[in-house]
Amino acid sequence: MRPVFINVGERTNVTGSAKFKKLIVEGDYTAALDVARQQVEAGAQVIDVNMDEGLLDGPKAMRTFLNLIAAEPDIARVPIMIDSSKWEVIEEGLKCVQGKPIVNSISMKEGEDAFRHHAIQCLRYGAAVVVMAFDERGQADTAARKIEICTRAYDILVNEVGFPPEDIIFDPNIFAVATGIEEHDNYAVDFIEATRVIKATLPYARVSGGVSNVSFSFRGNEPVRRAIHSVFLYHAINAGMDMGIVNAGDLPVYDDIDAELREAVEDVILNRRQRTNVSNTERLVDMAPRYKGEKGAAKVVDLSWREQPVAGRIAHALVHGITEYIVADTEEARARSERPLHVIEGPLMDGMNVVGDLFGAGKMFLPQVVKSARVMKQAVAYLEPYMEAEKAGKPREQAGRILMATVKGDVHDIGKNIVGVVLQCNNYEVVDLGVMVPADRILDEAIAHNCDIVGLSGLITPSLDEMVFVAREMERRGMDLPLLIGGATTSRTHTAVKIEPAYKRGSTTYVIDASRAVGVVSGLLSKTDRERNEAATREEYARIREQYARGQEVKARAALPAARANRFKAENPAPPPAPTFLGTRAYEWDLKDLADHIDWTPFFASWELIGRFPHILEDEIVGEAARDLYRDARAMLDRIVQEKWYTAKGVIGFWPANARGDDIVVWADEGRSEQVATFHGLRQQIAKTNGKPNLCLSDFVAEDGADYIGAFAVTSGHGELERAKAFKDAGDDYSAIMATALADRLAEAFAERLHKEVRTRLWGHAPHEDLSVQDLIEEKYDGIRPAPGYPCQPDHTEKATLFRLLDARNAAGMQLTDSFAMSPPASVSGLYFGHAESHYFGVGKIDRDQVEDYATRKGWDVATAERWLAPILNYDPAG
Ligand code: SAH
Repeated sequence: MRPVFINVGERTNVTGSAKFKKLIVEGDYTAALDVARQQVEAGAQVIDVNMDEGLLDGPKAMRTFLNLIAAEPDIARVPIMIDSSKWEVIEEGLKCVQGKPIVNSISMKEGEDAFRHHAIQCLRYGAAVVVMAFDERGQADTAARKIEICTRAYDILVNEVGFPPEDIIFDPNIFAVATGIEEHDNYAVDFIEATRVIKATLPYARVSGGVSNVSFSFRGNEPVRRAIHSVFLYHAINAGMDMGIVNAGDLPVYDDIDAELREAVEDVILNRRQRTNVSNTERLVDMAPRYKGEKGAAKVVDLSWREQPVAGRIAHALVHGITEYIVADTEEARARSERPLHVIEGPLMDGMNVVGDLFGAGKMFLPQVVKSARVMKQAVAYLEPYMEAEKAGKPREQAGRILMATVKGDVHDIGKNIVGVVLQCNNYEVVDLGVMVPADRILDEAIAHNCDIVGLSGLITPSLDEMVFVAREMERRGMDLPLLIGGATTSRTHTAVKIEPAYKRGSTTYVIDASRAVGVVSGLLSKTDRERNEAATREEYARIREQYARGQEVKARAALPAARANRFKAENPAPPPAPTFLGTRAYEWDLKDLADHIDWTPFFASWELIGRFPHILEDEIVGEAARDLYRDARAMLDRIVQEKWYTAKGVIGFWPANARGDDIVVWADEGRSEQVATFHGLRQQIAKTNGKPNLCLSDFVAEDGADYIGAFAVTSGHGELERAKAFKDAGDDYSAIMATALADRLAEAFAERLHKEVRTRLWGHAPHEDLSVQDLIEEKYDGIRPAPGYPCQPDHTEKATLFRLLDARNAAGMQLTDSFAMSPPASVSGLYFGHAESHYFGVGKIDRDQVEDYATRKGWDVATAERWLAPILNYDPAG
């Protein structure tokens, strides 16, 4: 007997259904309820509700819709799957659902702690959870990774959190097959195999998945896609798949599929050995058109848009980022207008409004918007001389003026630059003060330029403190401009708990990413809604502070002596061999070699395209944007390499070293009597129950005898600032941001590449290692290279010791700012640990006993220690 399969209705999903999105955005909840009802009538046994849409207040839409469903017995009889990538939306949903909800989804993407936290919340609400096979390294693709992650998640849920195993639903990721990329050929098999093992080894847990992904490469050919779904499900269900997101009414019965097609599909799904010299994928691709309906004629390069009137052409060029014709079209529009200004206020602004709407609606993505801005700037630059000649014109009306700056001590600006471009696209004027801007200057300029809003950005943790300082200064000066907070280390919690209370006169708002900036800014500049928006944010942040205060009380910590007694002890205590040299060596590296070692996934993330490379190129939603971006990136990378835009310089060093308590003592030479430096360590104080150690980096170095430590500092940033500036000055922010993002990638690749050299040759603790680039990216090697400021050692000031030992300034032209950010910005530094059992961890929150001890070791007073360790204090230093 075939097992029972539960199908989940997916039409009440704003990201998956354009129709449903329109209804929700327009507030037509009656019609939206009909969509839910139709699904239940069509046989959906669960309905998935998703409100993740830029234009929407997600929590509110979720609440409204779920409350309405609760009043409809014919819908409410099936369980609700609350689907969101935002925890706040999920939580809102949990508060509304009657009966047992299903949360879709949680994962270890942000690490085990966040996962545990979310699981505990779900448990409190009695919800079942979908657990994605996603961890800190990304989405699992192979069966082994899927099984490993699901097993780890199961262990945490069942054995640590006490989650009922029957309430766990694993989603081991269904990826597209038959993409033409050989590594994808086994994806369906990987899913099916993982399902079989999960069902056999993780008692009571269920398996689910989004089925339509598997056939993505046949989009446009519905009959073939349906056949693929049917065959896939046939095998996956037999392997134990319990449920899935699928359009059940639309599936052919497995036995009814045309025999030849079914065999070809089955070869692809099961990745069977190919029968002829044609690959399985090629065979199916060749065969597919025969099964396709009449629709879908061949594609030709479409220039029909050139036949529209000029305003339509300008809008098209803006939306598609095409610069080729923009000057000619702008000239044509100018010749027909009374004044050049009218071209800006007319067709150009109209076109940008379309871009803004599409972006808001999730149909355009950041790289595309930034390209639109480039078209806009070219048009405006063409018009400027005409406007000057005319002189008479009033300046063009802007929606508002926003000051933006990366705070003192910080050098990173990709995120800020992207936000600036997006705001400019929406007719805001941006006064960008650049990086490392002291508070005084930020506030003086805000006043001098008569700005409406001040926006602060920062990447490294010490910038958080600097932001609090700016807020305090605004208060002291009696300012009341809205303050915006953004950047990688910032968070809503930090903004609510630390920044907002420092600035009572004005409002403070955290902006999670560039796609939110316009909504937030327009809300704060609206004459009618500003007060309401500010009050809502204040209320929300007050709530967050309360939650935070409550969270603070429960976290038990081990006393420092107990944590130390529970240190990590290697199974094999033998230290690694002696490095091939002691002292430092400087390198200048070949950019081509670095380009070949790039990890592309973070590159897409810097453009706010989230997904793992190379799958992201095939992603149903962002795939097209990702492919265009990738093509542009590769083209620029070729130029960077060939024309030597940047130079890559680095320095490494090895020294005899021994652990001394939580510190690592670095010796001048093998005599081990002259100490040249100390690396200070921080130890985990979380109360461990499961026999796991309280880790500190010094645990990976022997206390006595012949052990060693290595260090590195690398940059590919020489030349980058000049390039980016030249592009920016030419009105090409797209290329400027690209140049910066690629420099960052090359620096990370440099660190990866050099580390390989260290392991196999220079230190030589893993001489026989033989790993692919992908294996390197997945860090499958022995040994680690933890960076100060990262979770193993969150204290950024340790970089000073690193830089001094390596003489990084002379050897590689690298420097540190007041906040210990590295300059040039495209730089990476850290320590090398050679022990095979060394591994990354997070120190987590620490108690005052350790802060005091650390202060003594660093020669600081306690207040200084509290300042540098602010992000990891387990107490409020003020209280
Ligand atoms: N392939 C990635 C590599 C950077 S992230 C990229 O191209 O962006 C991985 C690096 O971050 C590690 O090599 C290490 O230097 C640092 N890192 C990660 N986790 C860490 C931790 N817990 N403590 C200290 N450093 C860590």
